Amino acid sequence: MDMGIKGRKAIVCAASKGLGKGCAMALAEEGVDLVINARTKAELEATAEEIRKKTGVKVTPIAVDVTTDAGRKQVLAACPEPDIIINNAGGPPPGDFRDWDRDAWIKAIDANMLTPIEFIKASVDGMMKRGFGRIVNITSSSVKAPIDILGLSNGARSGLTGFVAGVARVTVRHGVTINGLLPGPFATDRLRGTYRARAAKSGKSYEEEYNAGAKMNPAGRFGTPEEFGAACAFLCSVHASYITGQNLLMDGGQYPGTY
Ligand code: NAP
Repeated sequence: MDMGIKGRKAIVCAASKGLGKGCAMALAEEGVDLVINARTKAELEATAEEIRKKTGVKVTPIAVDVTTDAGRKQVLAACPEPDIIINNAGGPPPGDFRDWDRDAWIKAIDANMLTPIEFIKASVDGMMKRGFGRIVNITSSSVKAPIDILGLSNGARSGLTGFVAGVARVTVRHGVTINGLLPGPFATDRLRGTYRARAAKSGKSYEEEYNAGAKMNPAGRFGTPEEFGAACAFLCSVHASYITGQNLLMDGGQYPGTY
């Protein structure tokens, strides 16, 4: 299926690896020119080169912390009129809510709620004027099924989801959709780190812990960044213009509810 977005311009945040990179690659394969972002310059530039070589699109890497005002300004300066924005950043740390002070909450809200909102604010009027826009927020399955030790993520991402639910119904009339893509467990460095920590605690090997975790998922495996990217590219396609304000859960069926 031709996604109908060849020649469009996208900003993909937090995209040197993992889910962000999966989205960047999938959009590039559809002929979308990219501004990609992450903090570590060497890794980001290597990813930009890999995408260019594989797809031939224009890729501009901007190595900044996207959760800062200055960082977001640099990203937007490199792509002042984006057609597509993929909002992403690292997730907040796990812990016990009794230990989180105001600073911990502000940091989580800044990264996982206000940063995507700032990108929406900066881009949505231009998109509506031009009659086309796609914004996909990478959030988490924790929006639908909260995880107790990820309270900072549950809270901040739910705030973003609530905000988007309202605005996505105002923009769609002008060709601009905003949706959430909710990852369950995906095979990225972040997930591998979780299983390394688990192995260090349990005394079992990393492989044993990782494989046991994968088997527990109804699909019998973890998701891949490539399949996550493909779903993202579809949400950004011309075919998805009637999908807005939705939260698409990709978790291999791990969420046990009917709705
Ligand atoms: P990952 O493999 O660790 O990749 C994270 C990417 O984000 C890297 O490119 C990293 O590069 C970049 N990044 C992190 N903080 C940034 C910042 N402040 N500014 C700019 N770039 C930043 O992680 P992932 O698994 O793809 O996770 C992506 C998001 O999905 C996270 O919010 C995570 O909580 C969420 N999620 C993931 C899963 C999963 O199973 N993988 C499940 C649920 C939710 P630098 O470090 O160089 O900046």
